[in-house]
Amino acid sequence: MKDSLVVYNTISRKKEKFEPLNPPFVGMYVCGPTVYSDVHIGNCRTFVSFDLIFRYLLQLGYKVRYVRNITDAGHLEGDRDEGDDKFSKKARLEQVEPMEIVQRYTLDFHEVLRLFNTLPPSIEPTATGHISEQISMIEEIIKNGYAYEINGTVYFDVEKYSKDNNYTILTNRNLEDMLANTRELGGQDEKRGRLDFALWIKAKPEHIMRWPSPWGVGFPGWHIECSAMSNKYLGAQFDIHGGGMDLAATHHTNEIAQSQACNSTNPSKYWMHTNMLTVNGARMSKSAGNGFLPRELFTGDHPLLEKGFSPMAVRFFMLQAHYRSTLDFSNAALDASEKGYKRLMSAMVLLPDLKESDEANEVDISELVNRCYNAMNDDFNSPVLIAELFEGVRIINSVYDGKLRLNGQQIAELKRCMEQFTYEVLGLKDDTVNADQDFEEVMDLIIELRNEAKRNKDYVSSDKIRAGLLRIGIQLEDNKQKTRWVKTNSEK
Ligand SMILES: [Zn+2]
Repeated sequence: MKDSLVVYNTISRKKEKFEPLNPPFVGMYVCGPTVYSDVHIGNCRTFVSFDLIFRYLLQLGYKVRYVRNITDAGHLEGDRDEGDDKFSKKARLEQVEPMEIVQRYTLDFHEVLRLFNTLPPSIEPTATGHISEQISMIEEIIKNGYAYEINGTVYFDVEKYSKDNNYTILTNRNLEDMLANTRELGGQDEKRGRLDFALWIKAKPEHIMRWPSPWGVGFPGWHIECSAMSNKYLGAQFDIHGGGMDLAATHHTNEIAQSQACNSTNPSKYWMHTNMLTVNGARMSKSAGNGFLPRELFTGDHPLLEKGFSPMAVRFFMLQAHYRSTLDFSNAALDASEKGYKRLMSAMVLLPDLKESDEANEVDISELVNRCYNAMNDDFNSPVLIAELFEGVRIINSVYDGKLRLNGQQIAELKRCMEQFTYEVLGLKDDTVNADQDFEEVMDLIIELRNEAKRNKDYVSSDKIRAGLLRIGIQLEDNKQKTRWVKTNSEK
C-alpha cells in the first residue's frame, strides 16, 4: 500500500510518487500559528488537513517526525518587514508582557486543536527558543554572500540570489512582474533591492522583545525561524514542508532561498499547501465580518450561524473537501455534513452487535478496504474515502437489519476497515451520544421498563415513556434485536 501513495507537489505542480529520503522515516514540517490572537478557523483547516496527512503516514507504517512551530516573535504586521511586531503591539494595547500574550494564545490554540481531535506534533519549537540557531544561520548566509548588514539590520539579497538560483521556483512567478508590483525604494529604506527581506531587525528603543546579536540588539525576521528550526530538527533536507497556500508566495519562497543560501539545498522534497476557506462564497476576513472563531462555530453564537455544530461535525465537514480545494462554509453545507457524520457514527455503534451467519452473501470486504486505501493514496483524497465509508455504512445497516448476511471473517474485516479509517485515519470520534456513563445507564433502565410495559401489553405506560422522552429530544428506535435511543435535537 505504501508504494502507491502519490502526493501533489507545489514545486513541480504535479502529483508525484511519495518516496521518503530515508524510509521508514518521514520528516514533516508545518508552519504553525502566530500566537497573538485567537486561532482562525481557516488555520484550523490547515492543521486538520496536516493531521489527516500525519495520521495516514503513520497508518502506512512510516515513522514520522512531525514538527510544527509556534511563532512567538518576529512576525510583523506586513509580510515584507513593514509595521509593528504583532506581539508587542497587542501587549502594548493590553498593557501586559508580550509573553503573556504568547502564553494565552498558545493555550487557546492547543485547546481548539484538542477539540478537533488532532494529534500533537512530535516537536513544537518556538521562535524565541531558537534565537541562537537563527543567528548562526544568518551568519552562514552572510558568509556565503547572500545577505548584508546595514545599521544593525541584516537583509537577504534577493537580486544576487536570483542570479545564481531561481527565487520564484515554488510559485513560478515572473521576477520582473514581482518587481513591478513591489513599491519603489524611498529615501527611508535601507535595503538595496526592492525584494530584499530582513533576516535580523534592529530593535527600536521601545521594542520589548530583543536579543543581542553580532549586529547589535534586535530580533529575527519571521521567515528565518522556520528555516532554522526545520534545519535543527529535520536536517538540511527533509520530506514534507507544508502550510496554508497563502504562505507559498512569500514565506515559503523565502524559506527556500534561505536554505539554498545556507545549505545549498531546497529544504524539502515535497511542498504541500492547503486551500482557503470561504464563507457563503466570499473569502473569510475580519473586515468583512464573516470570519468566525472555532468556538463561535461550536456554540452558534455568530450572526451568520443558525446554530452550533460539534467539533467532530466540523472536522467531518472539513474532511469532506479535498485539502487542495476551497471549502465553503454555509449553514446548509454544515447541516448536511452533520447529518452525514451522525449517519456514519450511528452505523459505527452497531459494529459490535452484528450477528455472524453461516451462510453468507457474497460481499467482497477486501475490495472495500482496497478502495479506502486507493482514495487516501491519491493525494490524501478524504472526500472519496468518506464516500467509500458510506458504502460500509450501507453494508453495516443491511447486516443489522437482517437484509444481508456476512460470516465471521467478513464481519471482522468490515469492523477493522471501518474503525481504522474512521477513527485512526480521519481522526473522528463519536460525540453524538452523551458521554456521561450514568446517563447511559439511566437510559438503559428506562428502555428496559418501557419494553417490559410493552411486553405486558401496558401500552398506556409504554407510550407515555416514549412520548415523554421525545418531548426532551430523545427518540427511541425499535429494531428486531434491540431498542436504541438517539438525540433528535442537535443543538448543543
Ligand atoms: Zn514557516
